[in-house]
Amino acid sequence: MEGYKQVAHQAAGHPGALVDSSSGELFAKLSCQQEIDFYTQVSAKELTDDEGHEYLGSSLYDWMPKFLGRLDQGITKDLENSSMVNQRELEQAKQDLEAMSIGEDSSSSNSPMPIGDKPYVVLQNLLFGFNKPSIIDIKLGAKLTDPKDPTISEDKHQRLAKVSTTTTSGSWNIRICGMKTFDNYPQATEAEYDQIVNDQDVSQVEDPEAPHKNYVVFNKFFGRNLTTDNIKLAFRLFFFENQLDHVRQVQVLQKMIDRLQVLHNCLIDTEARMFSSSIFMVFENDLDRWNNKEEGYEDPLIREDFEDSDDDDEEEKEEISRNKGDTAPLSSLNMIDFAHSRLAPKKGCDDNVLDGVENLLKIFEELLNDSHSFC
Ligand code: ADP
Ligand code: MN
Repeated sequence: MEGYKQVAHQAAGHPGALVDSSSGELFAKLSCQQEIDFYTQVSAKELTDDEGHEYLGSSLYDWMPKFLGRLDQGITKDLENSSMVNQRELEQAKQDLEAMSIGEDSSSSNSPMPIGDKPYVVLQNLLFGFNKPSIIDIKLGAKLTDPKDPTISEDKHQRLAKVSTTTTSGSWNIRICGMKTFDNYPQATEAEYDQIVNDQDVSQVEDPEAPHKNYVVFNKFFGRNLTTDNIKLAFRLFFFENQLDHVRQVQVLQKMIDRLQVLHNCLIDTEARMFSSSIFMVFENDLDRWNNKEEGYEDPLIREDFEDSDDDDEEEKEEISRNKGDTAPLSSLNMIDFAHSRLAPKKGCDDNVLDGVENLLKIFEELLNDSHSFC
């Protein structure tokens, strides 16, 4: 797609996700009608249902990347030819969003979809503002496919059921799908990691846009091979093998725990079924960004720095763009991947997902307790 380039860092999922090349604030990935419907419905609910929203973090909406709309590969042709600036693309995405939210029947999937031409979903880029991010994608749930989804073949149900029973998905309702860390090749650190790191599942890569920025990529087999006995070691590798000093490492982990607690409370009140969705965590390894934050600065639980500014006040826009980058947090946690999610009104909470969040919380709390021994 014109106006978009390959995303610099991806933890897992289908390769080929994109970021808009003008501002870098927008993320686009190949999606499906079900995911677009879910974003649309949760966003629409957020606009109409002010009862449910007690505080920031109490609504699923708060934990999702902001949803800008869909782009269809065919429909975008005109736009591509018009050397369009990002602002207009944003406008288009918004119009699409509006068009979809109008009418009571926004939930139905009867909008025309070109066959064999999947739509892109356009979202807030969760890596925007981070210079040297470490990222991790943790898939939630022991049931990975929706038993009520008629489009899923028996073969796929069985295949994914097997992935579940042979991994930590089945035992603890969480599985590391992939992670990418900044500059911490594990062999160089501690022999203990030998038990979880197979050379063929881990590789060192350079940031294509910034040579000499080295990352370590852990593929999906890394996460599949982990067990309940050693998954904590993988999280230790993620949070504690880097250039941050110990106090900052602990701050990041503590903030993730705080976030998971609020997310857990939110999910208790969320009536939805989210199969194969993920928790996506990011933290900054650029020491300058850490040092430049004011003394006493603390990351918010939920990032609020996404500027979906649609007013024409040029001064305000300039002000916003001057401040950009500084307003990004040093870490964040979101839920992503709603390709197999649906609302479930009056059906209660999603235990499949909640159990995963609970187990993740337990592991992180243990890790925090252990952490004084490896500073
Ligand atoms: P898939 O259907 O391919 O599994 P996901 O939604 O799980 O798609 O996303 C795949 C990967 O893309 C994630 O692991 C993450 O690295 C990245 N990603 C997803 N959403 C965003 C976002 N809003 N901003 C930045 N990166 C994202
Ligand atoms: Mn995914």
